[in-house]
Amino acid sequence: MTRGGAASMSTSPSPPIVGRLAPSPTGLLHLGHARSFLLAWWQVRSAGGTLRMRMEDLDAGRSRPEFEAAALRDLEWLGLDWDGEVLRQSTRHDAYRAALARLDDLGRLYPCVCTRAEIERAVSAPHADDATRRYPGTCLGKFSSEDEARASSSREPALRLRVDPGTTRVEDAVCGPRDFDIQAEVGDFPVRTRDGMPTYQLAVVVDDAAQGVTDVLRGDDLLSSAARQQVLYAWLGQPTPRWHHVPLVADLDGQRLAKRSDAMSLVALREAGVEPEDLVGWAARSSGRTGPSRGTPADFLGSFDSAAIRPESPTVGPATFGL
Ligand SMILES: [Zn+2]
Repeated sequence: MTRGGAASMSTSPSPPIVGRLAPSPTGLLHLGHARSFLLAWWQVRSAGGTLRMRMEDLDAGRSRPEFEAAALRDLEWLGLDWDGEVLRQSTRHDAYRAALARLDDLGRLYPCVCTRAEIERAVSAPHADDATRRYPGTCLGKFSSEDEARASSSREPALRLRVDPGTTRVEDAVCGPRDFDIQAEVGDFPVRTRDGMPTYQLAVVVDDAAQGVTDVLRGDDLLSSAARQQVLYAWLGQPTPRWHHVPLVADLDGQRLAKRSDAMSLVALREAGVEPEDLVGWAARSSGRTGPSRGTPADFLGSFDSAAIRPESPTVGPATFGL
């Protein structure tokens, strides 16, 4: 396990774990979210730890109060609880600004005025897709300050983190060790957008550190983000949490469920007559937990080892729930 210095020097044999549930209120929760949140709950509650709730509502254009209300209602319907108040990222801008100031003091940031189209034109890798397009460092060393970048380009600059070359190893309890060469794969990545917003990578690290999170359990679509986040933890002087990236749930065609998978949304399933005990029982079976065929989350408490979760995506369809 890769832990930060402070955590690995702990003399307690089993320090209390802190996990988190972090929905984005940009759509309805579906079965895949339910499974990840149940696994996070089982991990923390089985260990007698603390579970935090965070609403990832930085995307003002897509976040909706009704989706936040629906998410909280869905989680309570499933039988999940959490400790303390809901932390909303939209209230955390002072903390993100402080983290950016620290990174800037360390000389790791530089302004970038490139548009997405300009970056695409500058990159000739034919196989690069949107998720992996590498920033070629166009603006590195170009401007002495944000003001200069703004004045000479008439654009609001983004801020990018200067990434050293080399390998970052992510020790993941489910996926095993994975090596990422961030500089080669994504290049210097943004920590503040041209709209002045903290990026997902920065906000998640600042918030997980502030909430004392020791264990991050989430979908494996974020595994490569973990490498970038480790770099941010290191520069911000925070211990890296333990990673548990669990497979996303797929439909019967093998396509992973997306927010638009409305037929598999918890609301739709509930309205079709599916009971939470059925969903909880399915999530438990699909992740190797033993217990009754259906029940409440508490019915499946017991020793939890994320390494026992199979890395293949479980599949679901309406027939899974007798629909
Ligand atoms: Zn640039």
